[in-house]
Amino acid sequence: MSVQNLTLLGATGSIGSSTLDVVARHPERFRVHALTAHRRIDELAELCRRFRPDRAVVADADSAIRLRTLLAAEHPACVVDHGAAALCEVASAPEVDTVMAAIVGGAGLAPGLAAARAGKRILLANKEALVMAGDLMLDAVARSGGLLLPVDSEHNAIFQCLPLDAHARADTSRVRRLVLTASGGPFRTASLDRMRAATPDQACAHPNWSMGRKISVDSATLMNKGLEVIEARWLFGVTAERIGVVVHPQSVVHSMVEYIDGSVLAQMGQPDMRTPIASALAWPARIDAGVKPLDLTAVGTLTFEPPDFVRFPCLQLAFDALAAGPWASIALNAANEIAVERFLAGRLGFLAIADAIRATLDALAGSAADSIDAIFELDARARRVSADFIDRQPRAAAC
Ligand code: NDP
Ligand code: MG
Repeated sequence: MSVQNLTLLGATGSIGSSTLDVVARHPERFRVHALTAHRRIDELAELCRRFRPDRAVVADADSAIRLRTLLAAEHPACVVDHGAAALCEVASAPEVDTVMAAIVGGAGLAPGLAAARAGKRILLANKEALVMAGDLMLDAVARSGGLLLPVDSEHNAIFQCLPLDAHARADTSRVRRLVLTASGGPFRTASLDRMRAATPDQACAHPNWSMGRKISVDSATLMNKGLEVIEARWLFGVTAERIGVVVHPQSVVHSMVEYIDGSVLAQMGQPDMRTPIASALAWPARIDAGVKPLDLTAVGTLTFEPPDFVRFPCLQLAFDALAAGPWASIALNAANEIAVERFLAGRLGFLAIADAIRATLDALAGSAADSIDAIFELDARARRVSADFIDRQPRAAAC
């Protein structure tokens, strides 16, 4: 077994910390080459002291100076850089084997693509990269001879339930349907009035998973499931008609694969991201993830219900975007990022998140998205349209 040299993009986040928890349990398997963060510099310094990476990357020059100062006594050998180009560099450096892509949002696309082009083994948590540029990402992985392993729990579950083809890629040729499970989030049974008045803390109080704030809000609107439908389309090469969503509040069944003979394979486990992270880190081997065993007798009952597309219009918007074409997925994702940011800042009502996304999709219908430059341009335009829409909302209606 050779040691994997690891770059961890988004080390200070929820996925970042779960990844380092698993890595720390297996020092004989993993070596940390680079850790990156955006603004949480004290937290990154602490991680650098503990995991002693060769390199660290932060958002800007001031943050880099601060990090160097914090590391001067205990880890002066760490090379500290800043900015988007440095992220791409640590994602594609020749000495790196494996890249955990765990930056949140569209900011993860450029380094994810750099890793794909460089033929890395990519452990993908950053679903937004596939939503924005699934075609380009997969093409880059295929051309470079890299490997894309899903970390998102649903996709990791599906990956575990699929056979591999002759090229060691997941084979969906005998699959009737992929079924993504959704917990339903904190507002699964809430009235529209309660949802209209939802605060950021209520939206982020996920019943089963502990996650970053953006994905927590996405889980509350079910946009997270919508983004995951688009992610599944690219990862497994199946059309939207062959992807279903079922609400499963216990979050024990992480997703299912239904075959043409009627067999349904499911992967189960605790709602703990260390399981899919360990599965991707070690694939095709298995390693201890530090996760407590699943006791089905303690869980007792597993329930399943259809999603409510009326109270959760973001899920329908995502299915519609997938059907409309790549431009729509890009606009959907960008508009959502802005709307969620404004909601978290207390400047937009919870139910108005869907309105901002719908308005952005209407305004940008049919835009070009045929190259990486066009994708970034459309992403920027969609962010402006969404922000303008939100700014035009009367304050009382907006919050
Ligand atoms: P967090 O918000 O907890 O962490 C995000 C990480 O990205 C942090 O390290 C943050 O740095 C960094 N970051 C934020 N903005 C930028 C930027 N503009 N440029 C570079 N780095 C940036 O998010 P999560 O860990 O929850 O989620 C990460 C990704 O994984 C998301 O795409 C999410 O959808 C996906 N995912 C998450 C799951 C979970 O359980 N959390 C489950 C499945 C998928 P800093 O801390 O310095 O701000
Ligand atoms: Mg998920």
